[in-house]
Amino acid sequence: MDQTQAFKKMLDDRSLETVLILPHNMPDGDTLGACIGLYHLITQYNKKGYIVLNDDIPSNLSFLFEGDLKCCKSDEVTNVNFDICIAVDAGETKLFEDRIALFKSGKHTVCIDHHKTNTRYAEINIIDVEASSTGEIIYLLTETFGGTLNKHSGEGLYAAIVTDTGSFRYSNTRPITFKICEKLVETGFDFNRLNVEIFQTKSYEKLLLLNKVFDTLKLYCDGKCAVVKLSKHLVDNLALAEYDTDGIVEFVRDIKGVEVVVFIRYLNDGAHKVSMRSKYNFDVSEVALLFNGGGHTKAAGFKSVDSIEEIEVKLVDAISKAL
Ligand code: AMP
Ligand code: MN
Ligand code: MN
Repeated sequence: MDQTQAFKKMLDDRSLETVLILPHNMPDGDTLGACIGLYHLITQYNKKGYIVLNDDIPSNLSFLFEGDLKCCKSDEVTNVNFDICIAVDAGETKLFEDRIALFKSGKHTVCIDHHKTNTRYAEINIIDVEASSTGEIIYLLTETFGGTLNKHSGEGLYAAIVTDTGSFRYSNTRPITFKICEKLVETGFDFNRLNVEIFQTKSYEKLLLLNKVFDTLKLYCDGKCAVVKLSKHLVDNLALAEYDTDGIVEFVRDIKGVEVVVFIRYLNDGAHKVSMRSKYNFDVSEVALLFNGGGHTKAAGFKSVDSIEEIEVKLVDAISKAL
């Protein structure tokens, strides 16, 4: 059976009542917004949904949870037996590694995603690599199933799409993306507020951090490859209350002549998180796969326990071979 129809059948099954909805770790606008849209959809099938996330919600996205709908932590749902567990916008299970056991504890598992490196780890895998975002897929499912939207789901799904498309600038934006956004904006959420919250509420600390990270900029491959870094040393020296690095890598990509950008960031657990972005045809997901990561053609990443210098050398070598 077609995966979408199999999912519909699952939703129609009245014996399945509780639904676990999982955003990926280090959540972004797409995973959170899509979860909100999905929560609203499953509610229309009289199911009880729980969005479970242990990570903090980035401050520019916290407005999405101002209403009654909240995320809960794993330890708040230990008494719930989940009938359906749905991972949202996660290409592989390690992207919600702290909640894998919870995900697998459900009677049924579903994955809804748009990453081309998706490993199809669930019983039902609704993967659309052409979709701009997972939010777009949730919209299309809602439409196919004859579901309705309200202001809150409209706001979540719009936030998902606008963040994953870089405000409709990236090539994952397709004609239907605009048609969907027309429907979402028509739900009547506060459009100005959404844009101010997501894009125009950067903290002073964030700009200070951006400035320091830009100081590390190095160009390789005749200016086609740019590398920026946030080392442990820099983290310790800055001693900031928050390390919001969202958007830095896209900013560096804006440099004329740069085709691929690498951002290597120290994480608290000692590992490094690597984010890559490209502009035209360079497939960063292929490079990410070499380092056991994944992603999209123009946005991919991986985690590594190597030193920041080692990662830089190995990665610039791999990129220069592929460029
Ligand atoms: P990011 O740089 O974290 O915004 O990630 C860019 C894209 O790459 C996202 O769509 C992620 O899902 C994917 N990605 C990032 N890190 C990993 C990883 N360790 N494994 C698989 N995919 C990843
Ligand atoms: Mn995401
Ligand atoms: Mn996404």
